[in-house]
Amino acid sequence: MSEQHIQTIRGFRDILPEQMAFWQKIEQEAIHVFRCFGYEEIRIPVVERTRLFSRSIGETTDIVEKEMYSFEDRNEDKITLRPEATASICRSYIQHKMYSVDPVRKFFLIGPMFRRERPQKGRYRQFYQIDAEVFGISSPYIDAELIFLLHTLFQRLGLTGLTAHINSLGCSECRPVFQKKLLEFIGDQKENFCEVCTRRMEKNPLRILDCKVETCKKALQGAPATQDCLCDACRNHFHQVQEALSKQNIPFEVDNSLVRGLDYYTRTAWEIQTTALGAQSAVAGGGRYDGLVEELGGPATPAIGFAIGFDRLVEIMEQIYPEKDLPSQDLFIVALGEAAMEKAYHLSCDLNLAGIKTRTDFRGKSMKSLMKRANKLNAGHVLIIGENEIENGQAVLRNMDTKEQVLLSLDDGLASEIQKQIR
Ligand code: AMP
Repeated sequence: MSEQHIQTIRGFRDILPEQMAFWQKIEQEAIHVFRCFGYEEIRIPVVERTRLFSRSIGETTDIVEKEMYSFEDRNEDKITLRPEATASICRSYIQHKMYSVDPVRKFFLIGPMFRRERPQKGRYRQFYQIDAEVFGISSPYIDAELIFLLHTLFQRLGLTGLTAHINSLGCSECRPVFQKKLLEFIGDQKENFCEVCTRRMEKNPLRILDCKVETCKKALQGAPATQDCLCDACRNHFHQVQEALSKQNIPFEVDNSLVRGLDYYTRTAWEIQTTALGAQSAVAGGGRYDGLVEELGGPATPAIGFAIGFDRLVEIMEQIYPEKDLPSQDLFIVALGEAAMEKAYHLSCDLNLAGIKTRTDFRGKSMKSLMKRANKLNAGHVLIIGENEIENGQAVLRNMDTKEQVLLSLDDGLASEIQKQIR
């Protein structure tokens, strides 16, 4: 019996070099936009203590109940692969007492997250997020800035049909009023709700609003909206967010059913939807979490953030731009014989350092097969160094588009002569 090759674990995947073009493009655009808006990059561990997530995300959320990769370390510490970035960034903000120097900080993070979800198209157990978090500012202008920033980034990437779905979840003062009203509405028709919602009624009734089960959705028709119960401060805050977005011409809709899955959200919550793939789909979500820093042991600090689904965004880009640019080389050196290969080796190092993407081949192949390889690598120019060329101290530089050829001298000035010819 032949030995089975070891494969990736279910829900995990390789992202291969030929898939990287969009990953890199998105990352570069994101970093550019973040820099323009004064966000600083932060990198944090992928593993944290389990209780960081259970305390912040919420014991009864899907993530904490079912989806975390949690282990006992060899000394029985309970640790978890991060399912999201917000809690860890809060931990870092508190641990390094960043607030004592300047409570206002704006961070971004790009990296993998881990959730043990049912693997399906577009959902992975290791997936990537582009994350932003702002600490120390309660002003609605920051809520608007984050939504504007997302909109700008997606527009620069060519996404169309963008709409921000926004809602306000209220604060510790007005949310209990809403929860009470909602439970009163549900009253004695509890049996119309799914089992999960029945549990939510006790622990976090707000999350009943985004249940996807049809019977629950139906039973919720006519239910009160969070906005009906907002206190004056929350109502004003939400109003100002909307005003700012309107003035910036950001398309948005107030969506009463948008509550986001996690416990720590307060006030503004949003999702950015695009119709780039035909049907509407969410590419990013975010919200305020004004109580979380204090809940995790830091000083009372307003905070807000978002996460972009990087994998989802790449899929969208692949559909929008089916014609991928083929990776190309500036120069391929066809080197025939030992002396030519030695020359090609040193020359390719010099040219690569000078920013000319140069490849060669040391396998001692024939002229014909090396020319084939140059074509396959999509080389703009080919430099041919054969035995005759070495004897004559010359090499042939061929432009692969125009087929024009020039003779170059194989002396110390060759690298700079090639740069002149190619640029
Ligand atoms: P969340 O942190 O759940 O608000 O998700 C933010 C974004 O991350 C979503 O809009 C998704 O596009 C993406 N996302 C969440 N979970 C997964 C997953 N398992 N696989 C791929 N993308 C995900």
